[in-house]
Amino acid sequence: MTNPVELNIYGIKCDSCDFNDMAVQVNDYPEWVNKPCPKCNANLLTEADYKNVKLLIKLAEITNIILPKNSSDEEKVTMTVEMNGTGEMDFDIKG
Ligand SMILES: [Zn+2]
Repeated sequence: MTNPVELNIYGIKCDSCDFNDMAVQVNDYPEWVNKPCPKCNANLLTEADYKNVKLLIKLAEITNIILPKNSSDEEKVTMTVEMNGTGEMDFDIKG
């Protein structure tokens, strides 16, 4: 049995250049808030984006308390979330 909602949040990407560090884990995000990009000096993780990450984690926790567990043969839906530093989130669902 698995949780109905699984979050896969990791990595840091610069919105202004091609810098990324996909080895960064979500637990490390507090250290990255307002950190400048080593390549172009842009803000790598704005407080608005970090707030969104925390919101998504909370929502997933609450959803997993409310919804019943999945059996492992149930179809999974993958949703991606893009953030660009403004606090806006762009959701995309892949079947
Ligand atoms: Zn950059």
